[in-house]
Formats: sequence, C-alpha cells, structure tokens
Amino acid sequence: MKSLLYVFVFALFFSCKAQTEYTAQVNQESKTATATDENSRPKLVVGIVVDQMRYDYLTRFYSKFGDGGFKKLINQGFNCKNNHYNYIPTYTGPGHTSVYTGTTPKYHGIIANNWYDKEIKEMVYCAGDDTESSVGTEATAGQMSPRRMKTTTFADENRLFTQMRGKTIGISMKDRGAILPAGHTANAAYWFHGRDEGNWITSTFYRSDLPKWVTNFNASEAAESYLKPWNTLYDINTYTESGADLNTFEGGFKGKETATFPYDLKALSKDNRGFDILKATAYGNALTADFAIAALDGEQLGQDAITDVLTVSFSSTDYVGHNFGVNSKEVQDTYLRLDKDLERLINALDAKVGKGEYTLFLTSDHGAVDVPSYLQSVHIPAGYFDSKDFRGKLNSFLSKKYGASDLIENRSNNQIFLNRSRIALLGLDLEEVQEALVGEIITYKKIDKVYSATTMRTTDFTSGIEELLQNGFNQKRSGDVLVVNDPAVISYSKTGSTHGSGLNYDTHVPLLFYGKGINHGSTFKKTYITDIAPTISALLGTSFPNGATGIPLEFVIEE
Ligand SMILES: [Zn+2]
Repeated sequence: MKSLLYVFVFALFFSCKAQTEYTAQVNQESKTATATDENSRPKLVVGIVVDQMRYDYLTRFYSKFGDGGFKKLINQGFNCKNNHYNYIPTYTGPGHTSVYTGTTPKYHGIIANNWYDKEIKEMVYCAGDDTESSVGTEATAGQMSPRRMKTTTFADENRLFTQMRGKTIGISMKDRGAILPAGHTANAAYWFHGRDEGNWITSTFYRSDLPKWVTNFNASEAAESYLKPWNTLYDINTYTESGADLNTFEGGFKGKETATFPYDLKALSKDNRGFDILKATAYGNALTADFAIAALDGEQLGQDAITDVLTVSFSSTDYVGHNFGVNSKEVQDTYLRLDKDLERLINALDAKVGKGEYTLFLTSDHGAVDVPSYLQSVHIPAGYFDSKDFRGKLNSFLSKKYGASDLIENRSNNQIFLNRSRIALLGLDLEEVQEALVGEIITYKKIDKVYSATTMRTTDFTSGIEELLQNGFNQKRSGDVLVVNDPAVISYSKTGSTHGSGLNYDTHVPLLFYGKGINHGSTFKKTYITDIAPTISALLGTSFPNGATGIPLEFVIEE
C-alpha cells in the first residue's frame, strides 16, 4: 500500500514538472506570436473623439487637408468607412461612453446627457456629482464624476491589468467628454472652465489639487492668446465644399449682426460668456491640442513599457455645428484647422513617445443633420417639431380619456415618463396607459414611430430603428413611451444643426486606427462604435470592458 502511494506521488510530481515545462514552452512561443507580452504592447493608447463629426467631413474636405493630420491616419492606418452608432439617442454623453465601454445605453446606463431620474424625480446630468467639489475653480463646474456610468471602459481594464501602473488621463473642453472616456479608475480628467477664468479644472473625485503642469499651463495665459480674430485659414473663396457664408440657416454670436467671417473674439467675448466663446470656435480645438501635448510631458505618458491611456475629445466641432450648421463655412474652417491641430498632436506623439510606439484611434460621438430649413429649401423632407403643441395635445387627450391631465411626470429626450403613483391612485393599468399613448401619438404629424417600455422589455428586435431604440433602452432608467420623429425633423431652433436620431446622418461617423499593431487598409464592411473598445482590449490583451457587447475588428489588428 505504501509503495503504491510512492508511485502515485512520483507520478504526480513528474506530471506537474512536465506540465510546467509545457507551459513554459507555450509562453516562449506566445511571446513572439501574440500582442500580449510587454514588448509588443503599445506604450500609449490615444483615443480621439471629434464631437459631432459626420463621416462625410473626411471625404468632403479631403482635398484641403494637409498630409500630416486626417490624411496620415487614413493613408497610413486603417479606415472603417461604414462605421455606425447602433442605438438611440445619438448624444454626446452616451456617445463617449459607448466608444470606451464597447456597449450601449441599455447596459452602460448613460441614456442621455441629462435625463429624468425616476427614483429621485429630478433631472440629472450624466457626469454631475454634487458629493464632489471643484478643483481649480470656485465655481461648481468641477462637481463631477463618472459614477452614473454603470460599466467599465477599456482604460479601466488596462488599469486593472497593469496593477494600476498604467496611467489614464482624460482631456476635453466638455466635462463629460473628459470624464466618461477616462472611466472610473482614471488618474485624472481635465476640462475647460470658461467665463472670466479660462482655466483647465478637475474634480475631487480624482485629486485634491491641480498638478503643477496644469497650474503652469493655466498661468501661461494660453486661453487669452486665442481671444483674437477668427478668420478662415485659407482664402474663403476656395472653400467650395460648403454653402455661402451669408445665409439664413446660421445662428452666430451675440453682438455681431451676421454669421460671417471674420469674428473678433476678444470684442465678442464680453457678450458671449467670456472665455466660453472659445468653445464655439476653431480655437477651442487648438487649445485642447495644446493642453493634450502639455499632458504628455506633465503626466509622463508613454514613457515606459507599461501601457498608458490618453483620451482626447475635441468639443468645438460640436458647438460650431450647433451654431452654424453642418454646411457652413465655419464648420469647414473648423475642420481644416483641426487637421493642423491633429498634425501637431501626432508630431508631438512621434517626438515624445516615439513613432510606432503608440496606437491611436479617431472617431466621433455622433453625427448631425443638415439644417432642416436648408433641406426644405432644396425639397428634401425635413422640419421642426413643436414641443409645446405636443404637450397641449397630450394633456387634452389624457384629460378626455382618464379625466386627469397630470399623468405625465416628465418629457425628455423623446421619452415620456408617466406618473406611476397617480396612475395607481386612479386605479389605472400602467401598460394600458402606455399603449393608449402609443395609439394617440402615432396619429400626430411629424411622428414616425412610437413604442412603449413594455414592448421594449418583451420584444427582441434584431434590425432597424427598433433595434437601435432597444439598444438605447435601459429598463431601470428609461421612460414609459419612446417617440421617433420623421426623418430630419428636430426639436431645435430654425438655425444650426442638431443630432440624436438613429438615421445615417447621426449614426455614420469616422473610425480610423493608426500606429502600433494596426494594419494598413480600409473596409466598407459595417462596423459599430461598440467594436472599438473590444478591438483595443484585444490589442492590449486585457479583459474586455465588463459590459462590452461589440466584437474585436480582427481585420484592423496586425497578425
Ligand atoms: Zn457630442
């Protein structure tokens, strides 16, 4: 019996040893064959989101771009030409979150920029957090955190993977454009506070004071230097890819009669919230690039073999688009100048991190519709939704049918939130009220589709607008009735552009990959915004973000 035990122990020892040798051999092989070992991981991942960038800006302005910006990414990287958002609503908060979490509002919970919180019965802001304090200003602009985001970003997974040794820094003029991409474990996120301050700030969620490089940057009067005249980069007569500078489809700035070049930003700043005017000009992007370049040194990003993550969101493109519309000279000039800022950033990365040592991607958080009044002028179906009229009709319908006009608690983001306690008190059935509203609203002009939360919950949609609605529907946070407008119908002023729909003008956005581990090429195969984070995670060999629903784009990654 004893000898048998010896044999057993010996056999066990031998098999363990063999197992160890086998594992060592496999490890040896995988070192050269996969991207997961330290030497082949990029030193830095740079995620760039250009706010409100439609796909066609890449093609429409292509001939006027220089060689070192967008063109470099297109020609030396991988271009996914048919890349789309796969949920509704296509807004900034959900957009940035989906890029970095690899999933949709159904799972990450950022259902809009601002939404009605059913529990506390108040509107909440996607990045707002009044348990935190501002750092770098006395104003409340720093009371922010990513806490409403329910899942992790790829930057979070990189932090976990590297035992928190790989850094994450988020940068954007908009707080939500900096905070949501950088994730829950970021070392810091910085955003711009305008008014009469013009400084980059953060929140106590990340740290209790500004690091020296940020204080120095703020003291350098970088923002002041951009309060100067904004004229077109090239002769305006060569801007044949956009509409006339003077037209009836543009907003403009307070204190200037026409929305035409040039703009004296110093003089206009007084009537346009001080330094905040920079956000709505091409110079906001230049300032963002300056700050991102300063962060490379300030945070020592990409200086060792442990992968860091830098997220940069260029917000000014969105403000300019909202104000002047997607067909304006102002939008064209903003993109031609952004191309130069991108070139500066790429050159700085080459110099400080090293050519071929970093991986970069560029995408957008949503597109935008052509100004509907312009579309109407060229006979394309478009229009404006009258929100006040809608409210009146709904109230009179509910009064007539149920004898109560207070059954709607909130209307926001094309959703209706019903007053559940009132409905219970009146002895009404919630689902019956939802369906009655669906039946009523679908008869209204400029409405294309209406669905109830119950339908979203009980039906599995696998295509079309319904699938996008469902991907944007969060059972815990979304409303009782979901409304879809007719194509190119928006609730907005008669000038400027906006976004939010599931149609191609809002969903089709650029997706460019460039640098370490990235193939050269392009595809018209349909890709989704939710594929970005799994692709970067696969490249890094980390776990995918915990709620990711997208898939790695294998044709993008080098073998
Ligand atoms: Zn946006």
